[in-house]
Amino acid sequence: MQANTCDTDFDPKALTEEQARKRILASSAALDETQRVALIDALGRVLAGAVEAPFDVPPHRNSAMDGYALRAEDQNTDTPLRIIGRSFAGHPFDGSLQAGECVHIMTGAVVPEGADTVIQQELTESDGQWLRLQQALRTGANVRHPGEDLRRGQTVLESGRCLTPADLGLLASLGIGEIEVHRLPRVAFFSTGDELRAVGEPLREGEIHDSNRYVLHGLLQNLGVEILDLGRIPDRADAVHDALTQAEAQADVIITTGGASVGEADYVTGALRELGEADFWKIAIKPGRPLNFGRIGQALFFGLPGNPVSAIATFALFVAPCLRRLRGEADRPFRILRAITHNDLKKSPGRTDFQRGILHTEPDGSLSVVTTGLQGSHMLSSMSRADCFIRLPRESGPVAAGSSVEVMPFSDLLY
Ligand code: AMP
Ligand code: MG
Repeated sequence: MQANTCDTDFDPKALTEEQARKRILASSAALDETQRVALIDALGRVLAGAVEAPFDVPPHRNSAMDGYALRAEDQNTDTPLRIIGRSFAGHPFDGSLQAGECVHIMTGAVVPEGADTVIQQELTESDGQWLRLQQALRTGANVRHPGEDLRRGQTVLESGRCLTPADLGLLASLGIGEIEVHRLPRVAFFSTGDELRAVGEPLREGEIHDSNRYVLHGLLQNLGVEILDLGRIPDRADAVHDALTQAEAQADVIITTGGASVGEADYVTGALRELGEADFWKIAIKPGRPLNFGRIGQALFFGLPGNPVSAIATFALFVAPCLRRLRGEADRPFRILRAITHNDLKKSPGRTDFQRGILHTEPDGSLSVVTTGLQGSHMLSSMSRADCFIRLPRESGPVAAGSSVEVMPFSDLLY
């Protein structure tokens, strides 16, 4: 039997997490091809150019309150003001206001000419014809000005922006109904392994269901790419070769899981070397040490480890940044928080650990993190419970409960 050296070794030839990502990003460029899409279909798409405001927002002077539009100087007399009309949202008052007059106004409605202030309804008494004020407001109170939100010609959204629901609203407020976005990357993937059975098939001795394809499908869906699922491929050189050839013909990126290490039944590395350029990397991280990265024709290739947790970790750390780049997204560094660990954490020096945790906010507002327990890279249940990685530095040994640790929320990493 081979000794299990996984937990203890320090491999001086192994790449660091940052080195591996840097090399991958150096080979990844935004797809040039763009397309026009309707605003309603643009959520999650990436802008191929900056958007400028074609006019001021808000386009007109309008009221921030339900109340009465008046001249501030008229507030100093005891005489009631005459109500000469109404300005409702979408139905402006047609006319201008003279001394001693006011106009009933609703939120968002145009402030009529001659008025400079809006007093809220609660601070007034009215019989429908005359208005009495309970107090005076400063000139300009409750009036929103044109261009207060956005000025005409101003850059509203930068190129490389991944559009959010608020962005769609912003574009709609500017009357922009179609926008130019980057084409979605096409990502083909397949699982390798003779032990893998489809969901729904019975399991014989030694067999397991192919869970990675579901994991990958979800990860790719979250990120927003075109997905080509090529199924399960047996551990045979010709089968892997054919699948890679088929993938290369259709995809910008090819992802495989399994067969990536140097075990006897690992055909991916070999097939990759025949068809294109291949790099086999040992990365000083846990889980997910082995990673194949290369190129077949125009397609980038990632050979992820077979263990599902390793596959997710390497996807988050290396594949997702590459896909965001291809999607045209501006680079964003990983956000790293600090939290107090509630548990002792096992760790040996040599590799950067990505342990699974659950983030909490303490009553005083500080962050804490609880481990999901056993950290085996085959244990999807502990991954499923987690909402963050606890990142423990390469040199670090065991960590005691109460220590401050680095935390990377999945909400950042996996989208
Ligand atoms: P490999 O990289 O092929 O040596 O696989 C490493 C481990 O991950 C083995 O225990 C495999 O059974 C498991 N594994 C590989 N592919 C999958 C998959 N698609 N779904 C679930 N487990 C897998
Ligand atoms: Mg295998």
